[in-house]
Formats: sequence, C-alpha cells, structure tokens
Amino acid sequence: MGAVARIQLPLRPAGPDTVAALLDWYDGEKRDLPWRVKAGEPIDPYRIWISEVMLQQTTVKAVIPYYLSFLERWPDVFCLAEAKLDDVLTAWAGLGYYSRARSLHKCAKVLAGELDGRFPQSESELVALPGIGPYTAAAIAAIAFQEPTTPVDGNIERVVARLFALSTPLPTAKAELRRLAATMTPQKRPGDFAQAMMDLGAGVCTPKRPSCMVCPLRGDCHGYAKGIADTLPKRLAKPVRPVRRGMAFLALREDGHVLLRRRPEAGLLGGMYEVPSTDWDQEWPVEDEALGMAPVKGEWWLVPGMVVHTFTHFKLELLVYRTLVAADAAVTLWANSERCRWVNRNKISQFALPSVMNKVISHALKEH
Ligand code: SF4
Repeated sequence: MGAVARIQLPLRPAGPDTVAALLDWYDGEKRDLPWRVKAGEPIDPYRIWISEVMLQQTTVKAVIPYYLSFLERWPDVFCLAEAKLDDVLTAWAGLGYYSRARSLHKCAKVLAGELDGRFPQSESELVALPGIGPYTAAAIAAIAFQEPTTPVDGNIERVVARLFALSTPLPTAKAELRRLAATMTPQKRPGDFAQAMMDLGAGVCTPKRPSCMVCPLRGDCHGYAKGIADTLPKRLAKPVRPVRRGMAFLALREDGHVLLRRRPEAGLLGGMYEVPSTDWDQEWPVEDEALGMAPVKGEWWLVPGMVVHTFTHFKLELLVYRTLVAADAAVTLWANSERCRWVNRNKISQFALPSVMNKVISHALKEH
C-alpha cells in the first residue's frame, strides 16, 4: 500500500451489498478447517466451542493438531466432563493460557450435569456459563445457532477498522468496532458472515501488506480508498513488560528421574507441573540463600545461560541449577514434598508442563 490517496471510487457505507460480496467470496474461498462441517451436515456447538477457545491467542496452524487429538480423546461434552482435569491440562500443554483449559473443563461439567449436555442457543445464555466470554458466546451463537451476532476478535477488528477507516486507537476503539461490526451482521447466514470475516482477516486483510487487489470488499473499503489501510488499526503504545527473575532447580536422579512439583491450583499456571524454583521477583534471589532452599540436598551447579519466557504481563528470566542425586534422595521441606514427584525423564510429556518449564528442562539437560 502506498501513501497516495485513491479517491476515485464512489464509496458506499458497508451494507447489504458489502455483506453479499463477502459471502460470495466465502462460498468460493473458505478455508477447509477440521471444525467446519460440509454443506448439509449439522453443526456441533461442542466443536465450535473447543476450536474457538483453542484459537484465542494461537494460530490456526498451531491449533489443528491439538484440536484433532482433543476431539479424538473427548468427542463430546459428556466425555470432557468425565475427564480428569490433569489429563485436560496435559492435552492443553503447549497452547498456553491454561486457565482456558480449566474453564473448559468446569463448563463441560455444568453442561453435562445441569443442562443434559445441551448448549444454550443464545449469546446471552452462553455468556452466563463459566469460562465462556463475550467473544466465544457470540461465535457459538452465530456459527452453531445462526443468531445474528458477530464475534469480534483481532482479525475482525482489523478488517472493520480498515473498512470504516476508523483511526481511534485500540483498545479505546474496541466498543466502536464491535458496534460497526454489528451494523454489518446480516439476519441470514450470520455464522457464515462471522467465519468469512475471520477468513478475510487471516488471509487477505492481513496485518502487514493486505491483499486489497483480491479483496471482495475493496469497493467499499474507506481505508483502501484513503491509502491508509496498512496503518490501521492504530494502537496505543503498549506499556513495557516488567521483568521477574528467579532460580529453578532441576534434580536428576541416577535412575533417570527428574523432580517435578505441582503448582497451587489458584494463580498463574495453576495446577500445572513445574521444575521447583524460587519465587519470581523483580530482583535476582541471593544465590547462597536460594541454594539453601534447593529441593534436594546435593551439589548444585549453574547451567550456563538462562531461560527467558514472555508471559502476557511480564517477562521471566530464570537461572537454572542442576544436580545429580542418588535414587533414594529425599525432597526437602522447602520444596513441599507432598506436591513433588519423581518422573521418568522419558515420560515428562505425560505431565501438564507449561512451555516455560519445558524450556527449563531442555536447557538443564542439554550438554554444555
Ligand atoms: Fe482489508 Fe484491503 Fe480489503 Fe480493505 S480492501 S478490507 S484494507 S484487504
């Protein structure tokens, strides 16, 4: 996109013709995704729900293998309700934002136990369920039950901001973008409309260098006409992420087991397994004090380098210490032994480990 204005088009406000052009395009170009049904097949709200929750903050490409194995293991809401939370968290490991998996499991119990496995059909009832937010409720209501509502995620925000050339920065613009998306939402085929907007945002109206020349909305797009599409949506500068620091202790037993600890249920990465570590604070822990609290008595050595991981609200830097201990090594009181277990290093993947802890283990076990 150049900066030269293109005013030659007779611009219309986005209306029924815009929507019709988009739906025509969708009929020919829609992505073949495993949670989408073929024409004439019934839509399963359970599949829409799982896919939409997985897709939040994650790419379609990354989600597909998780979605397929999740559905194979828990094909309906009753199976998911009966699953052990630990198994759900393990299946989720790698997708991040584990609170979503916990909420999914909780909600499945409500659906199976109180609603006989049936999803409420309206957005307002869906949003009242535990863990279903406004976006997911709108997505299920529109796609599975054809309620004329539009889920507005980052992709759709971008398309709408460009279409209407809205220069108010995000996040201030969120409410206005939702309102504008609602003005476009058709009474007929609202589910296809929502998915068409998602596909357009993912493949045509991309964050950088949108493919306006092949876009079905080009004739109605004010951002394109003004030559400012690729500058939209505007965003307020993000606050700098604070840094937290800590020390992690990987104890390796002579028989090939490593020590893992389950985190408390509440809070960040709740209920997941971790390599025991100090608290994560602004300042580095004092080394001697930290080593005095190691989870197993032994000769601890600092693994060269450090592990860096970015969470939504902070960046974490971890120094990693490692030791090799006898097969009968006892866990110290500090490490909270009832939450700890020795795990065969070849079976670590069976435990719900967040990405940051996989990084710690790889870092600690690689040859230096
Ligand atoms: Fe996006 Fe360009 Fe299409 Fe406008 S014309 S909606 S900027 S791809």
